[in-house]
Formats: sequence, C-alpha cells, structure tokens
Amino acid sequence: MVRYPIAEIFYSVQGEGVHAGSPAVFVRLSGCNAGCKFCDTNHDPQMWLSEAEIGEHVAELVGNRKPMIVITGGEPTIHDLGPLTGELGYIRRYYIALETNGINEPRGYIHWVAVSPKRPYAPGHSYHPSEFKFIMTADGWLVDPTPFLAAYPNVEAAFIQPVWGSPQAFALAIQKAKENPSTWRLGTQTQKYLKLR
Ligand code: SF4
Repeated sequence: MVRYPIAEIFYSVQGEGVHAGSPAVFVRLSGCNAGCKFCDTNHDPQMWLSEAEIGEHVAELVGNRKPMIVITGGEPTIHDLGPLTGELGYIRRYYIALETNGINEPRGYIHWVAVSPKRPYAPGHSYHPSEFKFIMTADGWLVDPTPFLAAYPNVEAAFIQPVWGSPQAFALAIQKAKENPSTWRLGTQTQKYLKLR
C-alpha cells in the first residue's frame, strides 16, 4: 500500500491531445522533478490517499460508468505508480492515461503515455510515448523536439502546444505545423477556452 499526495480528483472532459473531448477522471498528484522557472503549480497536497481510497473516490464520482482516468501532476512518475495503476487499471478496469514530462521512465499498468518535455534530457527510455506535446513560446521551442522525434518515430501524434495567451506563440506554432503537416498537429487546450475544470 502506498499513500499518494493528492492535489485534486475530479470528473471532467479531457481538453487536449488525442483524447480531447473524452470524459475523464483526473487524478492530480502533487510534486514535480522538473523545477521549471515558470511553474505556477501549487505542489502542496490537499490530502494523502492510498490506492484503494483513490479507487473508491473515483467510483463515487462515476458510479458504474468507465471514463478514462488521467493521472497527472505535477509529475506523477516521482511516485510509485504500480499500486495506483494496478488498482485503477487492473482491478477496476479503467483505461489509464498518464501525463508526464518524460524525465522518469513510467512504470505501472498504463495504456497511454502523453509526454510533454519541460526541459532537455536524453530520450533513452525503453517505453514508447503514445503522444508528444511540445511547448512553443513566443521565442520558439521551450525544448527542441528533434531528438525526441528521432528516438520515438512511431508516436501516434505530435502536438505543438503554444503558451496560453501568447499570440506570438500561437503564430509560431501554426507556422511550424503548416511547414511540416505530416509531423505536427496544433495543440489547442480546449479546457482553457471552455473554462473546464
Ligand atoms: S513540469 Fe509542470 S508541474 Fe513540473 S515544474 Fe514544470 S511546469 Fe511545474
């Protein structure tokens, strides 16, 4: 049994990436290993729950429905995800999507891995990301996507995600996508337009 630091658990709709539009329960874990200067995430946990308590909390939210579960953060892989994904994915049979910065190798019972690098690192993990989200700032890429795309050529989708609220970043992202349409899709964070939780 592991006790996980929980920032929040809520039932909403995935706003970005390949699964945009899918109803999903978000399990947001506290803490991160990236140390981004621009980070505005509150890393203080609201509660500590075991994997069984998280499973019960999710079941209370959704009843007998089976939306996907998005495990996010912070950075979820700084925690031992084996017990949590075993509870949610193997025992309770939810589809498990993980959102990670990719620094740590994801471990556990996970169906979908969305990687959004926040700082450069050597992309040498044995797992294969399902999708990439690379952030575009007003000054260009936050992290150069070239070595990641070379290391993992079979991702199902690679998104350019412009920094929210920056017209320059949006213009650059659209330009890059149009220049190389076989590689890129524009990543729009519909949860921000729609003010979804
Ligand atoms: S990866 Fe995200 S949560 Fe972690 S420090 Fe960077 S911005 Fe904050």
